[in-house]
Amino acid sequence: MTKKKIWLVQQGVWRAKATDRPPPMPLACGYLKAIIEAEADLNKELDVRIFSLPGGETIVGVMDRIMFNEVPDLIGFSVLGWNYDLFGRVSEVYKRLHPSGWVAFGGTHVANQGKRVFRMFPDVDVVFNGEGEWTFLELLRALLGGVSKNQLENVSGISFQATDGSVITNDNVVRIRDLDQLPSPILTGAINLTNDQGRFKYDSALMETNRGCPYKCSFCYWGGAIGQKVRKFSIDRLADEVEVLAKAGTREIMLCDANFGMLPQDEEFIEICIRARERYGYPQNIMTSWAKDKRKYFYNIVRRMREAGFISSFNLALQSLSDATLEGMQRKNMKINEWKDIADWLHSQGMAVYAELIWGCPGETYDSFLEGYDELARHVSRIATYPLLMLPNTHYLDNKEEHELVTWQVKGDDFGRILQHKTMSIQENQNMHGFLFWARVIAEHLLFQHIWSPLDRLVKISQSDFLLSLDNWLRNQSNSDPAARRICEFRDHAVSEFDVGAECIENGLQFFFCDKDADDLLDRWWAKEIIPRIKHPGLRGLLTDIFRYDCISRPIYDVDSNISLPVVQKEGQQYYWREGIGFEHDISGFIIGTGTGNSTIDLDIATAPGISHPIIGDFYYKKGFCNDMALYHNAQNNAYFALVDWNG
Ligand code: SF4
Repeated sequence: MTKKKIWLVQQGVWRAKATDRPPPMPLACGYLKAIIEAEADLNKELDVRIFSLPGGETIVGVMDRIMFNEVPDLIGFSVLGWNYDLFGRVSEVYKRLHPSGWVAFGGTHVANQGKRVFRMFPDVDVVFNGEGEWTFLELLRALLGGVSKNQLENVSGISFQATDGSVITNDNVVRIRDLDQLPSPILTGAINLTNDQGRFKYDSALMETNRGCPYKCSFCYWGGAIGQKVRKFSIDRLADEVEVLAKAGTREIMLCDANFGMLPQDEEFIEICIRARERYGYPQNIMTSWAKDKRKYFYNIVRRMREAGFISSFNLALQSLSDATLEGMQRKNMKINEWKDIADWLHSQGMAVYAELIWGCPGETYDSFLEGYDELARHVSRIATYPLLMLPNTHYLDNKEEHELVTWQVKGDDFGRILQHKTMSIQENQNMHGFLFWARVIAEHLLFQHIWSPLDRLVKISQSDFLLSLDNWLRNQSNSDPAARRICEFRDHAVSEFDVGAECIENGLQFFFCDKDADDLLDRWWAKEIIPRIKHPGLRGLLTDIFRYDCISRPIYDVDSNISLPVVQKEGQQYYWREGIGFEHDISGFIIGTGTGNSTIDLDIATAPGISHPIIGDFYYKKGFCNDMALYHNAQNNAYFALVDWNG
């Protein structure tokens, strides 16, 4: 008997070429494959295969990967905003090859959007409206039972096109109460975890410890499961999954939870990871979206992770500091708004912290955003700024008129981008994108790390002031200076497109990592624009030393391997070695004493006799930064300074 071929396709956002990353672990498709394989009647009649694609694929590329040899009877696409258009057009080509084949779209981006999907892509047959696992079984039974794809009234949780072209939406399925009923794609082997060499084959392992989120933020449609009770997987099952992943050598576990650290079980989960690491050396890193309401579990988890040496960075997903904006976001009463103590506590524990803000939300103005940005930067100098995107099924999209939101779309993805709204004009939006270019390239990606607090506290130059000053100076220089023009072209592109996207950041980082004139530009700007603002003569030298330290400690992007520095081995890691760099001040002691986060830097500390002693030290830079960390990873811990002489 010929088995029917079922292809399950998902795609990550990162382009494989730019990041040299392995493909994303196909968790969503893995659940579907696992549940099919658990049903004996289906399993014997179906040949189910998963395709995990990198970002940036073309239609031809996708066709080549998924239909080079065989054409399936049904393709299920896990759809997100960045691949909606691509998968829609692949469906078109697929139907030319196999007109009677079935195409199913599932995922947050298309749920409850049947009419729109079928209008835009008539070759799509079915849209899933909720949790897909049980629904998928029903759909496959209909396929095997010879039911027409235009007569799927008995399959709950879908929309489909009837023969006359009308769209029929069936009743939704109830949410899966007991998540353990779902076979685990990790434990069943539905997802192949290792490559030919027996090593873990994905960039990180995706896991869910629970589903759902109790909040209802206006911009969010997290897994179609917001504003509801959180359902969790049992700790025994999670322990088994961690065991399998650790044995497979999984370096990083990425939890897909919306609020990890909210449930008592989460503490137990971390203990399981710690024990697995003791036995196998893995996992070494756990990433997640942390609970907005930081309860005692969260603090215990952080302590235990630190003690066990886990690498993780903690995000404070604040999104805005403006009351009016938070109100509109339906996040006004979240405990996360009491963020200062949490940030200071995380710094005191030596954990890396970054914060997130969204630009473009109703209620936000140009001034309120920068005010919030600087307030945040005083405690958390690394801030990731994202544009508001209008997603289907969100409060903002449903209430577009109320906020006078004007949106537009760029070719290639399906996100509504904000042009203007009641409290933000197009001009302000454009000006902000000029700022966001520097904020994302320079501050978020840690091109500077230590200068922020001293400048802010000692000279009242805030992070936004620093970035806008650089912006202004470089734009003035760009008329006559080719290097300034080179970087400003990337900045201007971001402004004209209203988008500081991945490619734009990559170009900006390439400039600062690789352009031979980048340091000279920064030095000239510092001398011209910042030094005159440092009135206290005792601070000029110290701040300039810290500025130089940040410049020199940038990682070495060794893409072309013509680095002239010698390579040395330290604790199993190769480093480029830059020897004998002198500073007029003991900035090594100053930086260790004050750190990068909230600190009590004041004039007395900065001008203390112990600080004004010259030092000499060596810099060590991790080799292979361009391959290992790539441009999208943070630059933290990629270079360090070792004091060799203190001329005290
Ligand atoms: S943004 Fe986070 S907290 Fe808010 S609804 Fe979405 S998942 Fe929940």
